[in-house]
Amino acid sequence: MPIGCVIVRDGEIVGEGANEVATQTDPTAHAEIVAIRRACASVGVDLRGATLYSTLQPCGMCSMASIWSHVSRIVYGAERHQVHSMYFEDRHLETMDFIRDAFRDDMSFTGGVLPEDTVALYYKPGDDVPPEEQGNL
Ligand SMILES: [Zn+2]
Repeated sequence: MPIGCVIVRDGEIVGEGANEVATQTDPTAHAEIVAIRRACASVGVDLRGATLYSTLQPCGMCSMASIWSHVSRIVYGAERHQVHSMYFEDRHLETMDFIRDAFRDDMSFTGGVLPEDTVALYYKPGDDVPPEEQGNL
């Protein structure tokens, strides 16, 4: 899936990743997880002060990984309602549902940046997606 992520702290990219689920045969290898792993390998497991940028709204797993890695800010392009439901694992939970209930109160997120560029990367709501490309069936 065409999802990309970079993690920036103090003006420098400390981790980056793309979706590697198929190439790594690892269902947890979402772009954000790949980037978080690389950032933590580079600068340690506390990413406080870092911003995670993703082309697509992070799923629940990646939202929780952002919380556990202490990312300070999440910025993403395409929003959940702008893309096909196959990109998400849950019918109703949103990124903000996880962040709102987290113990941390120093985390923020901004969604819907560069909407034309990022939405164009994904199947739209209602698109007829081949079953072999659907991730959440
Ligand atoms: Zn994810």
